[in-house]
Amino acid sequence: MSTYRQFHARSLQQPEAFWREQSALVDWQEPVQRVLDASRPPFARWFTGGRTNLCHNAVDRHLPARADQPALIYVSTETKTEKTYTFAELHREVNRYAAVLKALGTERGDRVLIYMPMIPEAIFAMLASVRIGAIHSVVFGGFASHSLATRIDDARPRIIVSADAGSRSGKTVPYKGLLDQAIALASHAPEHVLMVDRGLAPMPMTPGRDLDCAAQVRQHWDAKVDCVWLESNEPSYILYTSGTTGRPKGVQRDTGGYAVALAASMKHVFGGEAGGTYFSTSDIGWVVGHSYIVYGPLIAGMATVVYEGTPIRPDGAIWWRIIEQYRVNIMFSAPTAIRVLKKQDPALLRRHDLSSLQALFLAGEPLDEPTARWISEGLGKPVVDNYWQTETGWPIIATPRGVEALPAKFGSPGVACYGYDVRLYDEITGAEVGNNTKGVVAIAGPLPPGCMSTIWGDDERFVNTYWHSVPGRSVYSTFDWGIRDDDGYFFILGRTDDVINVAGHRLGTREIEESISSHAGIAEVAVVGIADALKGQVAIAFAVARDPGAVTDAAQRAAMEGEILKLVDSQLGAVARPSRVHFVGVLPKTRSGKLLRRTIQAICEGREAGDLTTIEDASALDQIRQALATKV
Ligand code: ATP
Ligand code: MG
Repeated sequence: MSTYRQFHARSLQQPEAFWREQSALVDWQEPVQRVLDASRPPFARWFTGGRTNLCHNAVDRHLPARADQPALIYVSTETKTEKTYTFAELHREVNRYAAVLKALGTERGDRVLIYMPMIPEAIFAMLASVRIGAIHSVVFGGFASHSLATRIDDARPRIIVSADAGSRSGKTVPYKGLLDQAIALASHAPEHVLMVDRGLAPMPMTPGRDLDCAAQVRQHWDAKVDCVWLESNEPSYILYTSGTTGRPKGVQRDTGGYAVALAASMKHVFGGEAGGTYFSTSDIGWVVGHSYIVYGPLIAGMATVVYEGTPIRPDGAIWWRIIEQYRVNIMFSAPTAIRVLKKQDPALLRRHDLSSLQALFLAGEPLDEPTARWISEGLGKPVVDNYWQTETGWPIIATPRGVEALPAKFGSPGVACYGYDVRLYDEITGAEVGNNTKGVVAIAGPLPPGCMSTIWGDDERFVNTYWHSVPGRSVYSTFDWGIRDDDGYFFILGRTDDVINVAGHRLGTREIEESISSHAGIAEVAVVGIADALKGQVAIAFAVARDPGAVTDAAQRAAMEGEILKLVDSQLGAVARPSRVHFVGVLPKTRSGKLLRRTIQAICEGREAGDLTTIEDASALDQIRQALATKV
C-alpha cells in the first residue's frame, strides 16, 4: 500500500502543495492566491482569490476538444425516451436556460430552487444557475408539499424550476399541485415558477408568476451568456441532507474547492478518463446526483447517463443493457438497488456485454458482505464500496483505484481518502481509540476541498452540530460508528444513534443486521431496539425473505426465525439475539433508500411515526404494524 500511503500522508502533511497540484485539474479565470485559509477554524477556505465557474469547467472548457462527443445521455424507461446531447448541444441548452434565468431577474447569489424529475432540463437548469453565479437548491422530485415548503422557506428562492410531472414504475406523479401547495404553505414566495411541460399531467398556471419554460427558452434561442467568475469560496449550491435522523441540514457548497475535489476524485478514486462514459443511478435530488451525475463526470470530460426509471423495468437487465449500449466505463449505484436486483434472476447479470465496465461503485448505506459478493461475482467486476455524506460531497473512505489498486475487503468501504484525516474517538471520554476498537468516526480539520462550507444561513448550527459533539475535541463528527483494522481499512458500524443497550451491553443494530443478512434466505433486514422493562432495550428484527413463498405460513416463518436466532447466537452471542424476527414484504425507507429505523422503532413502541414526508412507500409501515400484530 506504499503508493497510496505516501499519497495520503502528503495530502495531510503538505496540504497546500498537494491541493495546489490538484487545482490544476480545473480552469481558473484568476489564479489562486492562497491554497488554504484556515485562520478561522473550523471554517476552511480553499483556493482563496482564485476565480472560476462550475459550468465553465463542466461544459465550455471541453468545447475545443470534444464539442461533438456525447455529454449527456438521457434514458427514460418511464417515457421510453433516449436522447444524447453533445457538449456543443449541452452548451447551447445551458446558455438558453441561463438567458431565461437572467431575463427573469436572477442575479449572482440568488437562489434557484429546482424541483424536477430526472430529465435533461433539470440539469440544464442546474448548470445555467451556476453559470450566472446563482445558487441552486435541488429538492428531490418525489418530496411532498411539506418537505418542499420547509426547503423553500430555508433557501428563499427567487425562481423555482419545476415540471408537470415525474413518473415512477409507469405511473405519473403530478408535481404542480404539490408545488402550489408547498408555495401556499411556505412563508417565502418565489417571484417566478418556470414549468417544463412534459405532457404528462395538467399544470394549472398562476398568471404573472408561472411561466412555460419552453416558451421562455424559445425567446432566447441563440443566446450566449458569459460565465460569471466567482471567487472560489462563493456558494454554488445548497443541498439538504436526507433527513434520516431528523431535521435536514442545508449543506452549503463552495465553488472552487468543489470543482477541484470532484476533478481529483474522478481521477484518483474513480479512475475516470475524458471521453469515457459514467452512469450513476442516483437522482439529482441527492448528493451523489450532484457530484456524480452532473458535475464530476462533466468536469472530467466524460459523458454522463441520466436515467429515469427503476432498476427492474422493463426487466432486471435494464441497467446492464444501458452499459452495453452506451459503453459505460464507470457505474455508481447504492446497495439498496443491488438488493432489489438480488431478488431477480441472476442470469440477467450475464445477458449483456459488460466489457466496457471497469468497476461498480456503491455508496449511501452499509454494503453487507452477502450483497457485495453476490454482485461482484455476478458481474465479474470490481465492486467498490465508498463511504461519505451529503456534507462532504465526495468519498471520505474508499479504495482510490486511480492511486493504487488496493485489494477490497468485504464489509469495508476501504481506507481514508487523501485529504481526510479520519480518526476514531471514544464517545464518552473523547479519547482517540486505536486499531480494532470501535469509535465515532471523525475528521480532524480542516475538512478538505469540496466539503460543506457551513449550514446555509446558520454558521452556529454548523459549528455546534458537527464540531462540538466529540467530548473535549474540536473535530468534525460524522455521527457514524466505525472501526479500523491494522491495514488501515475502516468498517462502518452504523449511525451513532442506532445503538441499542441490552442489559448494559451496547450493540450496533448494524452488526445484528449484518449477521441476519448472512442467512441465505434473507434479502434485507432492519433491526431496532425497543424499550423493555427488564433489559432496558431489546432488539427486534424485520426481515424481507429472498423468496416470499418461503415465509407464507406460520410454520415456515417459525422455522426461519429459529435459524436466524441461532445464526446471531453463533456469530455475535446470545446477548445480541433479537427477541423476535418478523417477516415483511418491504421495509420503510427514505426516498434515497435509507432505512427509517427510528420510524420502525416508534411504531414498535406504540408511538406516533413522526414526520413521514421523506418515506418511499408508506404502506411499508402497515406491514410493520401487521407483523407486530401477528403472533408468529
Ligand atoms: P441526515 O443527516 O439528514 O440524517 P443522512 O445522513 O441519511 O441524513 P446522507 O448524507 O445522504 O444523509 O447520508 C450519509 C450517511 O449514509 C452516512 O453518514 C452513513 O451513515 C451512511 N453511509 C453512506 N455511505 C455509506 C457506506 N458506504 N457504508 C455505510 N454507511 C454509509
Ligand atoms: Mg447524516
